[in-house]
Amino acid sequence: MESELAAALEERRTLHRYRVRRTLNSATGATARVDGKEVLLFCSNDYLGLASHPALIKAMQDAADAVGVGSGASHLVCGHSRYHHLLEERLAEFTGRDRALLFSTGYMANMGVIAALVGRGDAVYEDRLNHASLLDGGLLSGARFQRFTHNDVGDLERRLRKNESGRKLVVVDHVFSMDGDEAPLACLSAVAAQHGAWLMADDAHGIGVVGKRGAGCAEQLDQNELPILMATLGKAVGGFGAFVAGSETLIESLIQFARPYIYTTAMPPAVAAANLAALELLESEAWRREKLQKSIARFRAGAIQLGLSLMPSNTAIQPLQVGLDERALALSRALEAQGILVSAIRPPTVPEGTSRLRITLSAAHSESQIDQLLDALAVAIGGGA
Ligand SMILES: *Cc1c(COP(=O)(O)O)cnc(C)c1O
Repeated sequence: MESELAAALEERRTLHRYRVRRTLNSATGATARVDGKEVLLFCSNDYLGLASHPALIKAMQDAADAVGVGSGASHLVCGHSRYHHLLEERLAEFTGRDRALLFSTGYMANMGVIAALVGRGDAVYEDRLNHASLLDGGLLSGARFQRFTHNDVGDLERRLRKNESGRKLVVVDHVFSMDGDEAPLACLSAVAAQHGAWLMADDAHGIGVVGKRGAGCAEQLDQNELPILMATLGKAVGGFGAFVAGSETLIESLIQFARPYIYTTAMPPAVAAANLAALELLESEAWRREKLQKSIARFRAGAIQLGLSLMPSNTAIQPLQVGLDERALALSRALEAQGILVSAIRPPTVPEGTSRLRITLSAAHSESQIDQLLDALAVAIGGGA
């Protein structure tokens, strides 16, 4: 075992794809203390700067004082606390759905939902650039698994038309996690309806950021148009966990049949309490979204001035695609030398030949911090990295 595993590790190193972890010794915000050094963070998904907000911390502390830390059991046994229940009700209201169901993580939600809804004899259609958890969920489900060309409704329709018997489930990211662009949800919804397929969207990167109230794609499509909505609480919401929202029947089906829901310990109730506090801030403090949009515009304008070719994204995810793995890595290192942390994203997270710097912006960043990033990019690129 040792020598076989070591060989695979060595191969990954040679490919410039070896991943290493950083250790944080501070809260995440615009800046953080990483491996003992103060850096500017442009790689976190804390898009609204809520992860270390005092209101979330206080809510978590109060709930922990009241009911302790561990939930002690799964939701179906005796782990479903009042905090979980309040959060589910709040999420249903926030997204305009009949009901919402909490999952411990987004990864588990996606595995659970897809496998609960389709199986052998059914078909699942996924955008090629879907998040790994959606792809894994599709594969695990045992349904016939197809990937369609990114955001290509025509390609999806051709596949749907070839029809299969059984259920058909179309699954997409709303905001694509490594690209930042958005799925054409209204068109996808129409095509899915035409072919009797169900539509599911993962709004991990849209919730909090997109929409007037920050409810993401739930503001664009109602429950009939988008019957299966999934989103996470660990990104813009600043907490942890995930949820699925939809009809009463959908939610009851997940409670009965989604194995990653049933066979796992409920998230700590204090985490649910922190998520609840975050939803209040997120909805009432629209200035966070406005500030983020200003930073996005400032970054894009500056990057264009530097002659950088940005991807077509209006969201907090502003990747700089550079192609070669080693080039993405070199750029990331050149930025780090200037005190800026941006991660180099390489295959298999993204397709071969599309390695990139995944730059993420947050409402926590000041204008001068955005400018610092632009200056550092100019130096990194000018320096031949
Ligand atoms: C982060 C992410 C997930 C996983 O959510 P976790 O709560 O971190 O497990 C799922 N889908 C997308 C699109 C994501 O970006």
